[in-house]
Amino acid sequence: MSAERAEHAVRRIGILGGGQLGRMAIEESRKYLAHIEVLTPDYPSPASELADVVHVGKLDDYESVLEFAQDVDVVSYEIEGVSVEALRELERRGKIVIPSAGVLAGIRDKYAQKELLVAAEIPTARAVLVRADKGEDVADAASSLGGFPVVQKARSGGYDGRGVAVLDGAASGKMIRAPSFVEEFVDFERELAVVVARAPGGATVAYPCVEMVFDERANMCDSVLAPARISDAQREEAERISLAAVEAICRAAESSGSPAAGSAGVFAVELFLARSGDVLVNEIAPRPHNSGHFSIEACETSQFDQYVRLLLGLPLGSARLQSPAMMVNIFGGPDCGVGEPEYLGLEEALAVPGVSIHLYGKREARPFRKLGHLTALGATPEEAAARAEAARAHIKIRCR
Ligand code: ADP
Repeated sequence: MSAERAEHAVRRIGILGGGQLGRMAIEESRKYLAHIEVLTPDYPSPASELADVVHVGKLDDYESVLEFAQDVDVVSYEIEGVSVEALRELERRGKIVIPSAGVLAGIRDKYAQKELLVAAEIPTARAVLVRADKGEDVADAASSLGGFPVVQKARSGGYDGRGVAVLDGAASGKMIRAPSFVEEFVDFERELAVVVARAPGGATVAYPCVEMVFDERANMCDSVLAPARISDAQREEAERISLAAVEAICRAAESSGSPAAGSAGVFAVELFLARSGDVLVNEIAPRPHNSGHFSIEACETSQFDQYVRLLLGLPLGSARLQSPAMMVNIFGGPDCGVGEPEYLGLEEALAVPGVSIHLYGKREARPFRKLGHLTALGATPEEAAARAEAARAHIKIRCR
């Protein structure tokens, strides 16, 4: 091992956020002897159980983020709701922030993100701001897009479908009151995603394009099928525009003053396959993502391994799909209640061939709260899907 490599292996990583994404990153980090500290508002939390050092504090609080960062060499985040101002200040002080403050600022405001995509000529649904300050309302914005239906989106703060409303007319009761924009309604055939890893220095790796299936009841991702059932041309287009979108976000961050060393990270690009056959970017997340969990078992290098590698300054690995796979989220149904979760049927689920289960260690279950996931491998996507569904049918969440 070279001296430089040894130094990377002991680089101290600080992750803002205490959820399952951090937890799975820590699980993958052990093989590199990485030291990981987390800042979490909740204790205990999925990542706090495994971190080397746990700091309890608010993620959107300037001071608590600055204080947390003192003890680490590189700062990252597993959730978007962190203090961008603190990240900018850390960059001024010479701390490595991955992805950079500029990347987060360009992504977190969904309208700013949209403008970046449009400026980079990346196909995406047209959008216009709802200029409430100018006395305009959703109907005015919708009419400039050709009328209803439109999709109204909060500029920031949305998560798992909160902050998104499909509006059929001006009288819809679902309307969002926060600063928002409206977007053309995309008549889509499927929702797709491509996870992109970008290392400091610019090397990129794209994961195979997957298909995301949503749970209508909770408007959250229910399952992910890899590879997506799309044509080769659509696959290539999805990959091309995902890489271009990440490049555009990174370039814009650099021109806003963030260091190029922070133009890195694991990004999830969510896409629509429109009924017309066009592939459009929906939105980008600057972190490992639910649509990439399948990669733990199905790819040569998982999204979490990739994340830890790039934080440590190690080379990215191959994202080659080794087997078709289906990932299914494990969450309590509408009637699961609130309380400490008990997992029934794990033995039966694990007896299904090709199935792995990841539980996140959340202390409290609530209806539709993600508590874990399972991934089934199969010789074909159909076999993987059948196994995942068979395993899922065995698992029940009961609250104590
Ligand atoms: P979130 O950040 O909450 O995941 P998204 O922008 O991904 O928000 O929207 C959530 C869901 O709403 C999408 O997965 C999709 O099903 C639907 N949706 C979002 N934008 C559009 C659109 N322009 N046309 C049709 N459906 C959309």
